[in-house]
Amino acid sequence: MVAALDAAGAAGSWTLAPGRVRGYFPRSASRPDGAFREAWRRIADRPCPPVVALRRAAPTDWVARWRSTIRPVRISGRLWIAPPDAAPPAEPDALVVRILPGMGFGTGSHPTTRALLRWLEAEPDFESVLDVGTGSGVLAIAAARLSARIAVGVDLDPDAVANAAGNRALDPRGDRVALLVGTLDAIAPGARFDRVLANLDAPTLGELLPALAHACAPGGRVGVAGVLAAERGAVVARARSAGLRLLDQRLARAPSVGDRWWSGWLGID
Ligand code: SAH
Repeated sequence: MVAALDAAGAAGSWTLAPGRVRGYFPRSASRPDGAFREAWRRIADRPCPPVVALRRAAPTDWVARWRSTIRPVRISGRLWIAPPDAAPPAEPDALVVRILPGMGFGTGSHPTTRALLRWLEAEPDFESVLDVGTGSGVLAIAAARLSARIAVGVDLDPDAVANAAGNRALDPRGDRVALLVGTLDAIAPGARFDRVLANLDAPTLGELLPALAHACAPGGRVGVAGVLAAERGAVVARARSAGLRLLDQRLARAPSVGDRWWSGWLGID
């Protein structure tokens, strides 16, 4: 979707949440919504997603705004996410995962990402992790810092994988993180992981849940996120029919969007 915004001439664009993007167009741009619809149709080869909203934005000092984000954010317990330049938190046992800000989704600030990170930290007895839709790589890298000997991140978007590789290079346990362009098909059919994470969207999870369950080792956990509150019932039912049981769940409002996001922590029968 970001690619369609760029193709439509956006001066800046990013993913706010799975399935939701924002782009800034110069005031002089004529009909950016029409250009976006057309670019989307060309790139995705299907009609435009239903909601396209245009708003006039007040001029913003982006550099000042970016600088204001240069501080570590505590996720839970010992785990912090911080941009590369930020001073480390004062706590001596803090685990700080460095993520380049503003590049791709997954800076750690979204409630969907946080929910999965908190569950990872709460049950840190895992050796292997599969992160489907790795984005910035934040989940896979944090998993390697917390416990994993091997964390595999896959993403359909080569730009996301390049971004994740940049973040992996910043991490002292980056050598435990493997990154691949693709989706679950990129993983060997018999491979099983102690944690399988997927921060995607409800339709994609609906398709992938049986394969996510299949990739989860006995006694392991599947963490899903990117689901709107209204979509929860369908995703939980699909998970159940894939042999997964709901162990814990969170609902949180994203500051920038106003929707409530549901995240689920699932055990395998
Ligand atoms: N895991 C990160 C980023 C999630 S954003 C976090 O939790 O913060 C979702 C990512 O999934 C995007 O980078 C998108 O390119 C990728 N994606 C979407 N559908 C996918 C699929 N079917 N298989 C693999 N990756 C997918």
